[in-house]
Amino acid sequence: MQSIFTYCPHCGSKDIEFPNLVRFLCHQCGFTYYHNIAAAVAVIFRKKDQILFTVRNIDPDKGKLDLPGGFIDPDENAESAVCREVNEELGIHIEPQQLRYITTHPNNYLYKDIPYRTMDIFYECDLDIPVSVRAQDEIKSLQWIPISEIDLNKIGFISVKTVIEKYYLNNEI
Ligand SMILES: [Zn+2]
Repeated sequence: MQSIFTYCPHCGSKDIEFPNLVRFLCHQCGFTYYHNIAAAVAVIFRKKDQILFTVRNIDPDKGKLDLPGGFIDPDENAESAVCREVNEELGIHIEPQQLRYITTHPNNYLYKDIPYRTMDIFYECDLDIPVSVRAQDEIKSLQWIPISEIDLNKIGFISVKTVIEKYYLNNEI
């Protein structure tokens, strides 16, 4: 894997290593930086036998199906992150008590050539009110898709694809 840094950001030395893009180490000055995984959330909104998907309007995976959600902010818990992201993306208010925990799954998120690794936390939530896109820069459109008609090839992220397949298409919930 190619290194994403050429120089140490602390002393400017080229005597650096960054194996597997996990721990950056400068052999000259000892500068150390851990590129730890980030925590993210996703919510599976249910309306009877349908699931709400977003169509991504930005890379990575622009044009592919995704779920509402995003990165957890510092000092925020996972349920609050879901409620905040849902409000930002869809303009609706939900409460943490409405969320049912499903599972977690690791994901890859390549953003501007930086390969971020995340741990995605999945929740399910019933939704019987109309929704529309609020964050049009991030989301192109919304699609309610019956579970029996979900095409996994149209889903971008491996975490979303795996969880939908395992817990909804194969009914392991
Ligand atoms: Zn250095």
